[in-house]
Amino acid sequence: MSALEKPADYVVVGAGPAGCVLAARLSEDPDCQVLLIEAGGRDWNPLLGVPLMTGLILRSAYANWSYVTEPEPQLNGRRTQWARGRVLGGSSSIHGMVYMRGVCWSAGQPLVSSLFASRAAGWAPQER
Ligand SMILES: Cc1cc2nc3c(=O)[nH]c(=O)nc-3n(C[C@H](O)[C@H](O)[C@H](O)COP(=O)(O)OP(=O)(O)OC[C@H]3O[C@@H](n4cnc5c(N)ncnc54)[C@H](O)[C@@H]3O)c2cc1C
Repeated sequence: MSALEKPADYVVVGAGPAGCVLAARLSEDPDCQVLLIEAGGRDWNPLLGVPLMTGLILRSAYANWSYVTEPEPQLNGRRTQWARGRVLGGSSSIHGMVYMRGVCWSAGQPLVSSLFASRAAGWAPQER
């Protein structure tokens, strides 16, 4: 029986960052069969790997759900585009590749400091 024919122990829907990390962690158990389903296609386009190329990618429906909001009262009733990735990697494949370290102010907040203490080693402001 091929891997694809085996029944799945877990089905993860969406191959964005959250789904990929979850599927990767679950599949560390060799006895565990994990099925990761993604609505979009492969991330073949080289532009997806170029920082700040988001603007070009978002002009086409390739890799983008191309959502539009309801009329927004705060925007004088206008609708606005609401991009979300529809491709392997999800929105992280179409995003601007901007990253930012925590700032001292947020590091003092209980939720942020507990994140640094648990998983985000090396990202606290004092660890620059
Ligand atoms: C335009 C844009 C720019 C951004 N810029 C930055 C940046 O510069 N730096 C940064 O850190 N973050 C940025 N972000 C935010 C970052 O990309 C998101 O926080 C992150 O991708 C969220 O991950 P996620 O897994 O929760 O969701 P997503 O990345 O949205 O992944 C969800 C996945 O699920 C799939 N899916 C949805 N429904 C189904 C279904 N029914 N069946 C199968 N698959 C489905 C989608 O196709 C998608 O691949 C940006 C986001 C956008 C949209």
